[in-house]
Amino acid sequence: MNPVERLLKYVTIRTPSDECSDSVPSSACQFELAQHLHRELFTMGVTDVKVDTQCYLYAHIPPTPGYEDRPVLGFIAHLDTVSDFCSHRISPEIHEDYDGRDLPLGTSGRILSPEMFPHLVGLKGRTLITSDGTTILGADDKAGIAEIMTVAEKLMAGEIPHGPVSIAFTPDEEIGMGAEHFDLDEFGADFAYTLDGDTEGEIQYENFNAARAVFDIQGVNVHPGSAKDVMVNASLVAMEINSLLPPSETPRETEGYEGFYHLLDMKGDVSQAQIRYIIRDHDSSRFEQRKDLLREIAGAMNRKWGRDTVTLSITDQYRNMSEIIADSMHLIENAKKACDAAGVKPLILPIRGGTDGAQLSFKGLPCPNLGTGGHGYHGPYEHITAEGMEASCRIALELVRIYAESPL
Ligand SMILES: [Zn+2]
Repeated sequence: MNPVERLLKYVTIRTPSDECSDSVPSSACQFELAQHLHRELFTMGVTDVKVDTQCYLYAHIPPTPGYEDRPVLGFIAHLDTVSDFCSHRISPEIHEDYDGRDLPLGTSGRILSPEMFPHLVGLKGRTLITSDGTTILGADDKAGIAEIMTVAEKLMAGEIPHGPVSIAFTPDEEIGMGAEHFDLDEFGADFAYTLDGDTEGEIQYENFNAARAVFDIQGVNVHPGSAKDVMVNASLVAMEINSLLPPSETPRETEGYEGFYHLLDMKGDVSQAQIRYIIRDHDSSRFEQRKDLLREIAGAMNRKWGRDTVTLSITDQYRNMSEIIADSMHLIENAKKACDAAGVKPLILPIRGGTDGAQLSFKGLPCPNLGTGGHGYHGPYEHITAEGMEASCRIALELVRIYAESPL
């Protein structure tokens, strides 16, 4: 089966994760896809496959005889999708020989346009897959799953000699919980790739360092008529804090390797106020400087408005996996070689966010991210090309071949 046929099947099993749920997985529908994949792998001849009680699927493809001593290479994709634009059945549409122009999505009234997505012009002549415009497509990350399944089928059919290969499909990536209950021992790989990126050929191993920061501000409230030199208006202090941050370092003003402070929300009155930020930077020393600036601001406010006016709490969220990957740069070099062999231009781009692979890297499984051929994720304009998916499969298969032929 080719990866597109698989994708078209998998997207019809809706799997939105649920941010408001405390259960694992956050939504039971994810089991339906996991069980389907379990059956499909078993039918291919992969007998060492299981879905655990938390909806993690682990499968192991045995090595070709004589290749047992090769490193264990892993591939990971996620079962869930975002919950936005996912309230009803997903109806994928296939547009063969796309003309590179405006494309109406079903009868939704939405138009996939090169004006919004300039890269579309470059997809002229390809087979484009979209939703009907009323939902996401779900290629994030069912394209990754479809590609890994296609590679598994080829390996089981003995197309190339290979070392041991581990596969995992995880729940709840979109709500940041995909790595949480990942069983590294069960997975058993020495290193892995997530197939969860955009354009085919993408190789990502630098994500943000991330923290959240909350300022709690305690004001002094008295009658405004007799407030002279007494009142401390907590909301005004909150606004003063924000005014001390560099205005050019917001998400809107930054790109590439530029970090930012992002004001998430603010609430308050005279007596009390709270402002919440997230802080992001690829560079760990600049990341620490950002946190230091917030601490300095809190200190300055307390000197100006009175001790204990401002309480700052900073919580680290995740770290840049590049410091882990630095010891396993063969993962990046080999991914570039695999792209070259597959006839795809390697694209090394920083991630302006985090990935499950980042968390797994810090747990001991170095895990960069690869493209799947998709674009416009997390909304009704999501699209992917058949050619991009085929290329992503070739890249993954080349990686298996490289690790079999030239072990570390
Ligand atoms: Zn994803």
